[in-house]
Amino acid sequence: MTDQQINLFDYDRQSLRALFEEMGERAFRADQIIKWLHGRGVTDIDQMTDLSKSLRSKLKEISVIKLPEVVQSQHSLDGTRKWLLKLEDGNCIETVFIPTKTHGTVCVSSQVGCALNCSFCSTGKQGYNRNLSTGEIIAQLWFAHHSLKEETGLDHPVTNVVMMGMGEPLLNMDNVLPAMNLMLDDFAFNLSKYRVTLSTSGVLPKMRELAEKSDVSLAVSLHAPNDELRNILVPINKKYPISQLMDVCRAYFKDEPKRSITFEYVMLDGVNDKPEHARQLIEILQGIPSKINLIPFNPFPHAPYKRSTEVSISKFQRQLMKAGFNTIVRRTRGEDIDAACGQLAGQVKDRTQRSAKWKAKHNVVIPIVKETETSNV
Ligand code: SF4
Repeated sequence: MTDQQINLFDYDRQSLRALFEEMGERAFRADQIIKWLHGRGVTDIDQMTDLSKSLRSKLKEISVIKLPEVVQSQHSLDGTRKWLLKLEDGNCIETVFIPTKTHGTVCVSSQVGCALNCSFCSTGKQGYNRNLSTGEIIAQLWFAHHSLKEETGLDHPVTNVVMMGMGEPLLNMDNVLPAMNLMLDDFAFNLSKYRVTLSTSGVLPKMRELAEKSDVSLAVSLHAPNDELRNILVPINKKYPISQLMDVCRAYFKDEPKRSITFEYVMLDGVNDKPEHARQLIEILQGIPSKINLIPFNPFPHAPYKRSTEVSISKFQRQLMKAGFNTIVRRTRGEDIDAACGQLAGQVKDRTQRSAKWKAKHNVVIPIVKETETSNV
């Protein structure tokens, strides 16, 4: 790839149409390319047979089709899959596929590492390197969709996408938005807006912007019902406290009152799982159409927390349900391959030095991926 060449994976339909118009080409050519690339999974321009020969030659001059490399593919005993994708700069990110009887969900990363350092999250401990490009974000769904389609023979092996992998998606909005457009595009992955969910820790100005620009579903990583506790668990709360977050949530789906926001709440033993926490949660969520996901904590090496007991999780759930909140306990999946929620680590070249400090403090050795473990999907 030369400096002048573009990566076609970085474009959604709208931006590719604009590019084609600038080039003096008909805009509908962009639709055809989106269909080949994402809908059919074809990455060889010469196989795009409904484009003229001259357009194909022009495209090969000005563009490339660049995807990360799959360097590791793991299967969990419960059917969960995890792929380690190596990016051009040597960083690695992880993508997970979680099948159930009726759904197939892909959990997509938006950044290499994460700058927000939530205290219960393994990704946060890896530090932060950079934002993913649109191409690197959509490639995660592309790999999962096309490889599973070939393996299973199903037309739509992926039914849902959650932007809940590594990173805070709203701190990479410029690249995340076109990727989500491709997820919804009927020429690409054709997923419903109810089945593509962006999860945020509460970057309020960006949440307001998202409400204007996209109609995907929203999840909020809440994890604590008061500022004192949330400042520790989700430090961005110091900048955007709970009362302001709840105001934004209250207004979020004002034009679609039947839509609700999912609130994620990791269950940490003795930390945020007491009856008084449930009472406070009920209070702050008043007036917000909500679903609550209780997530039993998934430990990682040297994690400072323990998972709540089953008894306290079900008591907590009952208390919320009694108050009228639709509350589910998320089943832990893929624990044997470290693919469970909050466990994604990848291999991040940390620019923040946070991981070095943390590893030194806890004497942690991060394993290197061996070539022999490499398997292309
Ligand atoms: S929970 Fe999300 S926002 Fe917080 S550190 Fe982990 S990846 Fe970042």
